Amino acid sequence: MIHARRLLRKAVKGIQRNAPLQIALFFLPLVWIGYFAITSSERTEALQQARAHGNSVAQLFEENTERIFERVDQSLLVVRALYAQDPAAFSLKFWAAKAQMASGDVVQFSLIGSNGYLFDTTTGYSGPPLYLGDREHFAKVMELAEDRLYVAKPVFGRASNKWTIQIARKLFDHGKGPAGVVVGSISVDLVGRFYDTAKLGIGGTLVLRNADYIVLAARGIDQGTVLGQRNPGHVEGALRDSAYSQYWNWSGSEGRANRSNRLITARRSRVFPLIFTAGISEQEIYSRSQARQKIYLGGALLLTFIILMATALHWRRQKALDAAQRELRDSLSKFEDALRNLPQGLSMFDGDDRLIAFNRQWLDAYELSPDNIRVGMNFREVFAHQEAVRDLDAYLVDLKDRLAKSENTSNTVQFPDGRVIHISYGRRESGGWVATHEDITERKASEDRIERLAHYDSLTGLANRNLFRGSLDEALDKYLLHHAPFAVLLLDLDKFKSVNDALGHHCGDALLKQVAGRIKAQARTVDTAARIGGDEFALIVAPGPSALQDDAATLAARLVQAIAEPYEIDGHPVVIGCSIGVAVVPEHGTRVDEILRNADLALYKSKNAGRNGFHLYSPELKAEADQRDILEIELREAIWREEIEVFYQPIFELSTGRATSVEALARWRHKTRGLIPPAEFIPVAEQGGLIGELGDLVLAKACRHAVLLPDDIKVAVNLSALQFAGGTLVDSVMAALADSGLAETRLELEITESVFLADSQENLKTLERLKRLGVSIALDDFGVGYSSLSYLTAFPFNKVKIDKSFIDRIGRAETVAVLGSIVQLAKTLNLSIVAEGVETSEQVEKIRALGIALGQGYLFSKPVPFGELLLQVLPESERQAVA
Ligand code: C2E
Ligand code: CA
Ligand code: CA
Repeated sequence: MIHARRLLRKAVKGIQRNAPLQIALFFLPLVWIGYFAITSSERTEALQQARAHGNSVAQLFEENTERIFERVDQSLLVVRALYAQDPAAFSLKFWAAKAQMASGDVVQFSLIGSNGYLFDTTTGYSGPPLYLGDREHFAKVMELAEDRLYVAKPVFGRASNKWTIQIARKLFDHGKGPAGVVVGSISVDLVGRFYDTAKLGIGGTLVLRNADYIVLAARGIDQGTVLGQRNPGHVEGALRDSAYSQYWNWSGSEGRANRSNRLITARRSRVFPLIFTAGISEQEIYSRSQARQKIYLGGALLLTFIILMATALHWRRQKALDAAQRELRDSLSKFEDALRNLPQGLSMFDGDDRLIAFNRQWLDAYELSPDNIRVGMNFREVFAHQEAVRDLDAYLVDLKDRLAKSENTSNTVQFPDGRVIHISYGRRESGGWVATHEDITERKASEDRIERLAHYDSLTGLANRNLFRGSLDEALDKYLLHHAPFAVLLLDLDKFKSVNDALGHHCGDALLKQVAGRIKAQARTVDTAARIGGDEFALIVAPGPSALQDDAATLAARLVQAIAEPYEIDGHPVVIGCSIGVAVVPEHGTRVDEILRNADLALYKSKNAGRNGFHLYSPELKAEADQRDILEIELREAIWREEIEVFYQPIFELSTGRATSVEALARWRHKTRGLIPPAEFIPVAEQGGLIGELGDLVLAKACRHAVLLPDDIKVAVNLSALQFAGGTLVDSVMAALADSGLAETRLELEITESVFLADSQENLKTLERLKRLGVSIALDDFGVGYSSLSYLTAFPFNKVKIDKSFIDRIGRAETVAVLGSIVQLAKTLNLSIVAEGVETSEQVEKIRALGIALGQGYLFSKPVPFGELLLQVLPESERQAVA
């Protein structure tokens, strides 16, 4: 049943689709059938009209002619009767005139005697006797047994000079004996006069024949050729059995309407031996219908054209429509494809909360079974068994409320199993909504992770720099609103890099974690502890009950102490210290930049003051900083003017007391402050980016001086780690050697382990290049850093200089033990060892006992200007030479 209905619907649809084509197929034949029907019926009608016309013309032709013949015959009879009464006295002329016999088409009457001679005529002939005995009408009439009218073939009248038809009867004398023939002549033109009124049209013919089919008169055909001739044509056959016939007289060229094809109507007179034919040309018959046929043909062609055009147009439109429909189907299937391949779930509900469309992903998101969900289901039905939303009605009301206010809305649904689904709703034009459902469980987790990453330090779990800045802003806002004072502590680990280098990053990280733990342990929960750099920490101390400055100071002191406690990392005992700078709000500033700068100045102070301590900001620190700025400007000028001097402190061989080398130490002779020590201006040069130029200057001066010293004395120049960063160090050294002409073996470069801390790979390469030049390299300040021993093997140094702090503690047994092992290692590595800062002879004893061969210190000589040095190291004779 359903199948049949579907088929029917399909058929109807097909018909509807192709209707114009079918209409065209229906109408086109109709037009042409109509055309042929109309034209052929018009032809039939034309023919019928022609037949009727032919009939009436033939009839009139007969009647007219018969009337004339009758009149003439009457006249013949009258003449004959009068003649018979008195043949002698009879005058044809007289009677003819009296009876008006010879008038119109009747040309003349004549009497021919039995001898064949004309003896009376209406024309008034007066010539010699005229013999007419040879004439047909005379001979035939004379032969006739009975008395009847004879119609002879036309003759050209000798008397009348005209073609005439002769009709004759016998003439009798008084005693009823034959007396000759009475003849009436009728002009052949009698046909012509009728022809004009008959209106047979072009090609029409009228022919009058006698009983022997001799043509008596004709019109419409060449009279001259047929007149008087026997011309039976088809008439003989047509009139064999009847007095009337109508037939076609085909000329031979059939098919096209032709002037010589004629419809002939033939009649035989019942009274006279006469035959009448009226012909209408085929062309004449059909001329009007032919003209109309042309119009019809034009119409039919026009209609055909219109129908074909309309069909073509429709066909094109249908094609476009089909294409559009195909496109629609295409996009529909694309939509379905998209739906299938959408990464999110999609659902569409109409204005009555009924499901219109959905995809697999949507089902999966809500753990709905595809068997239970169908298009058309109500929203409440669909979600009846889920657990995330309990009150579906309230949910729907809320959703519709939101969609009424805005085209788009979204919310997040959390399932009891922890899955989180984000739903974006869009209002549909036609009511209802379309929603995409995305499982964001994963994303949310990673967002939370990112959020943590954005605000917390991943290593220590403390707040990161961002969160620290945010918290600082917040604390400041709070201060501005409620005047709640707070403090900021900046914390920098001392020697952390050494630990990192010695034990590896892994241990460095472990150390940082422990430090963070200790900072946290000292802070309260309301405080914000943060890691703001590699080994830099910060603490925002929230307002407390007691005076904040003291609070902050105690906290700082506690922190210094706590961090200085020994650590155990991977089984290694580790000790580090820290420097802290403290700034208190509002006393030390009420703007973020101000507070941080001041805390930083306090930190700088702590570091400079020998580390492992804290400082509160004070206005003097700011003054000092300003002073440093001024100093930097002045230093720049001093370097440019080469006002940096170089002092020299010799290094002696303890066993002989001979100077083996001299260390070049920079001095700045300031115009107002006098001689400034390097500890004060080297950091300024380093911070101001002047260290490269300063270093070059010292190198150049030292080398120039050294060539003046005895060949067995080397000159040692200190290098800052920052000079390695410039990239021009090797060139500078080569230039200094070349300019002075000093042998490279007489130059020694002192570096500290900080060279290995920053960009150590690159610095190591530079160091190797320097060594390849032939200069010797000494490791300065050995023992200050934690990892010193390892540095001894990091590079093939020529010399190691034991730091003054060791020598100061040389009285202690453990120092002696450490130094002992250092000496042991140095000897294995073939290094010479210098003891720095030797101030007492006791120290010298201990040093010598340890096997250290070289010493440098105030005990032997303070750093002195070059002139003074010369006095020290040169023998008497040479001193004079130099002087
Ligand atoms: P340093 O390389 O360790 O130089 C030795 C420092 O110890 C010198 O201080 C010297 O005067 C001092 N000294 C020597 N013997 C004794 C002693 O027995 N007792 C005491 N208390 N001190 C002693 P100075 O000249 O003030 O130099 C300080 C630091 O400045 C140097 O330490 C060096 O690191 C740096 N320095 C000096 N000149 C230059 C330079 O031209 N370039 C670079 N980069 N640094 C330089
Ligand atoms: Ca040195
Ligand atoms: Ca030193």
